[in-house]
Amino acid sequence: MKNIIFLLSLALLSCNQNKVTDENGVSTDPHSFSKPDQAIVKHLDLDLNVNFESKILTGKATWTIENHKGADSIIFDTQNLHVIRVTLSNGEKTGFSFGPEKKYLGSALKVGIKDSTKQVTIWYTTSPDASALQWLSPQQTAGKVYPFLFTQSEAILARSWIPCQDSPGIRFTYNATITVPSNLLALMSAENPQQINVKGVYHFKQPHAIPSYLMALAVGDLKFKAIDSRTGIYAEPIAIDKAVWEFADMGKMVTSAEKLYGPYRWGRYDVIVLPPSFPFGGMENPMLTFLTPTVTAGDRSLVSLIAHELAHSWSGNLVTNATWNDFWLNEGFTVYLERRIVEDIYGKDEAKMQEVLGYESLKETLQDLGVKSSDTRLKGDYEGRDPDEGMTDIAYEKGYFLLKTIENTVGRARMDGFLKDYFKNHSFQSATTEDFLSYLDSQLLKENVAWADQIKVKQWVYEPGIPLNFPSIGSAKYQAIDSLVSGWKGKIHPAGLKAKLRSANEQLYLIKVLPADLNAKDMAGIDKEFGFTKSGNAELNCAWYVLAIRHHYQAAYPAVENFLNHVGRRKFLIPLYKELATSAAGKEWAKKIYKKARPNYHSVSYNTIDNLLK
Ligand SMILES: [Zn+2]
Repeated sequence: MKNIIFLLSLALLSCNQNKVTDENGVSTDPHSFSKPDQAIVKHLDLDLNVNFESKILTGKATWTIENHKGADSIIFDTQNLHVIRVTLSNGEKTGFSFGPEKKYLGSALKVGIKDSTKQVTIWYTTSPDASALQWLSPQQTAGKVYPFLFTQSEAILARSWIPCQDSPGIRFTYNATITVPSNLLALMSAENPQQINVKGVYHFKQPHAIPSYLMALAVGDLKFKAIDSRTGIYAEPIAIDKAVWEFADMGKMVTSAEKLYGPYRWGRYDVIVLPPSFPFGGMENPMLTFLTPTVTAGDRSLVSLIAHELAHSWSGNLVTNATWNDFWLNEGFTVYLERRIVEDIYGKDEAKMQEVLGYESLKETLQDLGVKSSDTRLKGDYEGRDPDEGMTDIAYEKGYFLLKTIENTVGRARMDGFLKDYFKNHSFQSATTEDFLSYLDSQLLKENVAWADQIKVKQWVYEPGIPLNFPSIGSAKYQAIDSLVSGWKGKIHPAGLKAKLRSANEQLYLIKVLPADLNAKDMAGIDKEFGFTKSGNAELNCAWYVLAIRHHYQAAYPAVENFLNHVGRRKFLIPLYKELATSAAGKEWAKKIYKKARPNYHSVSYNTIDNLLK
């Protein structure tokens, strides 16, 4: 049976770029209402006007569709969209209706079509609280003069600003015309302008077929500076020089990734540094990574995040998880590629330290979820839930360690060849976990029967917790810190340590392995030596502030409050609010800060924190 399914899915892949249906022609994505087996989108012409006063987008989405089976309707995903009218290819009006509103999913928009229909145009407006859109007042930007808008469409928020078949298994090309106030620049996940246009009208083209979660738009007072001939930075004028210095290695990273995994297929690779409320570290929007300013630490210590977002140009954007239950295919692969790029450019020591930090955070995630929780399986099951719940270190780090286990078993040269071919053979397609497993079997493991026994890939993918063949890892630099801390025997001695532990990774590790019974005086001693409270490195800030809350180190409280008011990155907000919520007084304080800070956060951040502080 397995072989038959595999052959069928290969046939689907080869005749259709979109991997959206099972062998019976039924949609496999539990997070989309669309019925791509009946009528499917192929290309989008988007025309939107951006209004900062009303906080709405107004315009039309013209979809070029295929209606192979002669269906009488096509289904789109929507969330809080106001549809004004819908027309078909020849301009004639057609009927449309909305299905019932469902939690997380929004509602299905059913549009009447004919056998001959090639295009459907939906005239619509977004709502002011559209979940993908974040509208910032001038005060919330770095420059404080102009407003700012950015989108975050992953996982299933694209439907809140574009009526679309919002499944990662469905791909389309797009052109767009975006009209904005004349002093602002608009950018998308496409070929981008490098200068402000006096009329405020911008045209975009994405010639490669992408899934809807990679639709992206940013509008603001933005400037461009090149790093080299194919990479560059967009940022607010006040932030651009710092960003250009911080990310000077971007061009080198693209070259390194190409050497490992084959040509970069997207043309330019640019990065936009967003205002601090951006909820993620980065978002791999094609041709234009969206980035949090919390990685401009001032010492290039957090640039591995660029390696991560860049790696998505292969794992994620080129070969895409077919559903959000296969999310580990995007993220586990990307963490693996990221660490290989880091190793290539910054050396083995650096890559090993990042691997250990990844393992530490995987252990925390396992503890939080419980090792027997079904959410610790690589193949997820998020039907009926928000797919954001699957964005944990299981997908990222357990996924990474599976690939590392394969590498350790088959050897690096074979692994590299296998991955390069995998990306080439699945370019601009989507894959399920099962597609990958079949490909792994047929292309790599068949060479040597003992390998499959050693790797135990099904155990990794379908069983909870971490398997016994988990690779052994370690970093000499971290071992030195472990023995140093265990030598303290209850009394800490931080003086003179900074000269020994210079890198941000070493300092971060030190914070993580400090004794559990510190008091506020110990904290003050460590802070005097390292200056963690005032560090410009947000990773250090966050780890340190968690300890400050836990050990009642009040000297850091104003900095904690300031951080929570200015940073919107979910990765940092969650552990801090969680730590605050462990005591009654802390929770009280958290609620006070949150009341003020919440408007600065994107919906993907505040939806999680609302639950936490309930
Ligand atoms: Zn990622």
